[in-house]
Amino acid sequence: MQLVCLDLEGVLVPEIWIEFAERTGITELRRTTRDEPNYDTLMKFRLDLLAQHKLGLPDIQKVIAEMGPMAGAKDFLDDLRQQFQVIILSDTFYEFAMPLMQQLGMPALFCHKLEADAHGTLVNYHLRMPNQKKEAVQRFKELQFKVIAAGDSYNDTAMLGEAHAGILFHPPENVIREFPQFPVTKSYAELKAEILKASQRI
Ligand SMILES: [Mg+2]
Repeated sequence: MQLVCLDLEGVLVPEIWIEFAERTGITELRRTTRDEPNYDTLMKFRLDLLAQHKLGLPDIQKVIAEMGPMAGAKDFLDDLRQQFQVIILSDTFYEFAMPLMQQLGMPALFCHKLEADAHGTLVNYHLRMPNQKKEAVQRFKELQFKVIAAGDSYNDTAMLGEAHAGILFHPPENVIREFPQFPVTKSYAELKAEILKASQRI
């Protein structure tokens, strides 16, 4: 039995924080772990900024819904789900992802949670566990699944390495250079072809 695990941002939907910063004009929200390596500091900074701009969860979700998934993502996913069980493993939060998941036909998503107060202001975040992408693949293997995983970035490489087959989708140059063991795909057609190839091999 084979399972496909997909990253979400950069594979099926835009980078949510970056796109959110563009759409709201709050440029400080473009900060990533590359600028602030301490994730907790970065998240507190982001939540503070949202509160300062009086953006509560309903406002945020409205902006995210308008982003929409990447062109062709829904068709790719619908097609893939005809042949494979697909689970999306992401480091985003359910509250952010939901408006986009509705547009993708509500596939299974494992990610993290945000906490809002009674007014909808985001007050905290809760990571389910550290390294959840890799841990999930490990557990699926224990459940006797053969796992094919695809992602676009550094935070996917542990998951890709843990899977029986790992595939990069639209990765940045430095990731391509550092992880030459993973095939690189640049369109959904190429990704589907590489998944089928892996499925024959594993
Ligand atoms: Mg990604």
